Amino acid sequence: MDSVISIKGLRKTYDAGTEALKGVDLDIRRGEIFGLLGENGAGKTTLIGIVCGLIRATAGTVTVDGHDNVTAYRAARARIGLVPQELAVDMFGHVRHTVEFSRGLFGKGRDPARIEEVLRSLSLWDKRDAKIGDLSGGMKRRVLIAKALAHDPDILFLDEPTAGVDVSLRRDMWALIGKLRDEGKTIILTTHYIEEAEEMADRIGVITRGELILVDEKRAMMEKLGQTRLSVGLK
Ligand code: ATP
Repeated sequence: MDSVISIKGLRKTYDAGTEALKGVDLDIRRGEIFGLLGENGAGKTTLIGIVCGLIRATAGTVTVDGHDNVTAYRAARARIGLVPQELAVDMFGHVRHTVEFSRGLFGKGRDPARIEEVLRSLSLWDKRDAKIGDLSGGMKRRVLIAKALAHDPDILFLDEPTAGVDVSLRRDMWALIGKLRDEGKTIILTTHYIEEAEEMADRIGVITRGELILVDEKRAMMEKLGQTRLSVGLK
């Protein structure tokens, strides 16, 4: 199996004593969409935060293409794009500048052609000079994705990309995520919605109370979920 991310024995205990992750092992395969399914507080954001280098693990290892030391991991980090759950973006910023700035944060030089390509692929080019705060909710989410893609990562994490969005926007987001996978990106998306994991993912993992209790191909998982969904708080 060609795994791009390998997570072993990952634990996180926050200062308040909450055990958010209790020893998670997981391999992400190159080019797949992996759906991480779990209820509120299950540990999804913590897991993503650690893999993306934003949260320090209490124990365990994360390797990206086999590299786990700090220097190599920094290089690996530049290969990862993160679309956060919250609309964490400067509402007074303008679309194109914001996306260009995000590329710069990864030490990549200016590349107007790349920025244009990203904005066009997300149907944001016509809005390039707009103030982000003036855009619709769906367009704001697209800006978050553009920011995550600006430095051309080949691994993309999407933390609950469709939480609180309406059905038509959810379908647009699914189409967009499918397109990114078709371009060869490895995608990890977290969700509360079984329907979303079923629609999008190649494999699904179910996390509950800090433990990854099931990981399987989608079809096998849908059968198992029929029996366990209620016990892990999924609808
Ligand atoms: P949601 O779907 O609600 O976003 P989640 O699956 O992403 O939930 P996490 O945000 O990873 O879950 O939270 C896992 C547990 O860790 C929860 O009990 C949460 O309250 C706790 N937690 C998260 N961040 C912190 C923090 N900074 N300090 C203390 N506890 C935290």
